[in-house]
This record gives sequence, structure tokens and C-alpha cells, in this order.
Amino acid sequence: MFDVAIIGSGPAGSSCAAFCANAGLRTLLLEREKFPREKVCGDCLNPACWPILRRLQLIERVRMLPHGVLDRVEFIGIGGRTLAVNLPVGDEAEIAVKRSLFDQLLMRRARELGASISEGRTVTALAAPDAGRENWTITASEETFESRVLIAADGRNSTVARLCNLIPRGTKERVALQTHLPLPHDFGNRVVLQFLPEGYSGQAPVGNGELNLCLVSVPRKIAALRNWAETRFGISAEHSWRTITPLTRAPIAPARRALFLVGDAARVVEPFTGEGIYYAMASGELAAGAIVRNVMGGVKAK
Ligand SMILES: Cc1cc2nc3c(=O)[nH]c(=O)nc-3n(C[C@H](O)[C@H](O)[C@H](O)COP(=O)(O)OP(=O)(O)OC[C@H]3O[C@@H](n4cnc5c(N)ncnc54)[C@H](O)[C@@H]3O)c2cc1C
Repeated sequence: MFDVAIIGSGPAGSSCAAFCANAGLRTLLLEREKFPREKVCGDCLNPACWPILRRLQLIERVRMLPHGVLDRVEFIGIGGRTLAVNLPVGDEAEIAVKRSLFDQLLMRRARELGASISEGRTVTALAAPDAGRENWTITASEETFESRVLIAADGRNSTVARLCNLIPRGTKERVALQTHLPLPHDFGNRVVLQFLPEGYSGQAPVGNGELNLCLVSVPRKIAALRNWAETRFGISAEHSWRTITPLTRAPIAPARRALFLVGDAARVVEPFTGEGIYYAMASGELAAGAIVRNVMGGVKAK
């Protein structure tokens, strides 16, 4: 029996779990994968993440992870015209860090602060509180758990939203491919957003001599975009890419009775770049604050 059960241990779920556990709530975090796991992402951390990481006492540990420090963003137009914008420097700098490392760090912090975490557990069924039942019953990998509040932090194709009949119909209007490559020697400390006739590409150095490469296009042009990337970065045709679709969904109201949606499950991403780690962490922290204040009536903080 838990006060709060959080489904999904990405930046939204782990941040939410860390803040809930730190406030003294009996916190459960259920994650489908076994960490560390990669995620289709450009790996860039908006500097707005630093204050949240400070509140989680994680700044030093994040800085110790292999990472790239990004000093400018370059937008490259279809015709090759380039617009460069400087990024903040020093302690407020934007960095790029592999999601396998960053997400594992956040999950470990939630565990240190007292959250019960179970990996390799896929949530497949839910029973909502009703007149005869006070709590949520959550079924994950053939075990059941009870919780007063449920948090959907399970990403863009949220199982919780689907099981609660909240998920809007998706259209496979765009596809993303992502991989890590050896960093080209002259790449520099930039993050690149490059627009092409077939779609667009994001590129950022993530430390340890690696480059994050993302490609986004409509399904009928994704093979052509991949051919462009293979030529541009000398990638073999056998190279394996991570992939996800769809990229866009209609928004869902993030707060319902004893249910919150956070991060990609709530569609809180920046609309121009699709960047979402900061919004995932911020919405996780906001949901934790709302649960402590309103739903639990202010459980005594540790
Ligand atoms: C191509 C691309 C590039 C991007 N680049 C950037 C970038 O550079 N910077 C940035 O800030 N954002 C970027 N984003 C967005 C960013 O990846 C997301 O916004 C962010 O991962 C959202 O975090 P989250 O915790 O909400 O979800 P996720 O990170 O998706 O985590 C959800 C977790 O839930 C788990 N889960 C799912 N279903 C279940 C289930 N049934 N039971 C248990 N667990 C489950 C999953 O295994 C996963 O670990 C990019 C996105 C794309 C598509």
C-alpha cells in the first residue's frame, strides 16, 4: 500500500518520485525497462534544469557524468544558410548527456530519498478508485499494488492514459531515428538543428568522443533522410538506429481525481524544438508539490 504510485522512471517519474519520497510520502516507482537504458532523444539539457537538479542535490553528480558543454546552437537552413546563437556559459551552460546515464542518476536519487523502485515491471492493468474502492489497484508483471494517488509518467504512448481512456488517437505523421556516433574531429561545441528537404536533424556532442544524431521526418521520407545522414557522417547501411513514432499528440488535462499526468504523458514539450526533459522534471516536481499540499493534506516533511 503506497501514498503515490508513479508509472515510468524517465525524468518526469524519477523527479516526481524523488520529491514525493523526500516529503515523506510512501512512494512506489514502477519502470518497464531495466536501467541503464537509452531513449530516443537529442540528449541536450536546457539550462532551466539546473535549479531543479540543485533542489535534488544532483548538480555535482550530473557534472561528473561524461557530457558535452554546448556553447552555441546553429540553425542550418535547407539552402545551407546558418544562424548561430550563443548559449549561456559557466554554471548555467547547456550540456548534452546520454539519457542512459542521466536517467539512471535520477532514478538512483529517488531510491536514495526513500522511493521503492521496481524495474522490469510493465503496468498492464488499472482499477480506479470508485464508490466501493478507495485506492488505485495497479497490476504490473503479475503483481498488484495499491496506491492513493497515481502518476502517469510513462511517456508519449502512456499506458496509463490508454487504460484510463484518455489517450488521443495518434497519427503516424512523423518518425524519429536516433543514434550515437564517433564525434567528427571538427564538430566543435555546438548543437546543430539542420533543416533538409527530407526533414530535419539534431546533432550534439555528448562527451567521451560521441555525437548524438537525431533525424525527424514523415514516414515516406525517413529512408531518404537516413541516406543523407549515412553519407554526411560515414555511417554504414547496417548501423542500428533507435526509433519512435508518433511524435505529436493532442494535449491531455494533467490533473484528475487522484491521477496526475506528467512529462511526455501530459504532452509538456517545447513546441519549436520538441525539447522536453526540463518540462518533464518541472511537471514531476509540480505534481509532487500538489500531492503533498492538497491530496495528502501536507504529510510532515522529513
Ligand atoms: C527525436 C527527439 C529528440 C529529443 N531531443 C531532446 C533534447 O535534446 N532535449 C530535451 O530536453 N528533450 C528532447 N526530447 C524530448 C524528451 O526525450 C522527452 O520530452 C522526455 O524524455 C520526456 O520524459 P518523460 O519522463 O516524460 O518520458 P520518458 O523519458 O519517455 O520516460 C517514460 C518511461 O516510462 C516507462 N514506461 C512506459 N510504459 C510503461 C509501462 N506500461 N509500465 C512501466 N513503465 C513504462 C518507459 O520505459 C520510460 O522509461 C526529444 C524527443 C525526441 C523524440
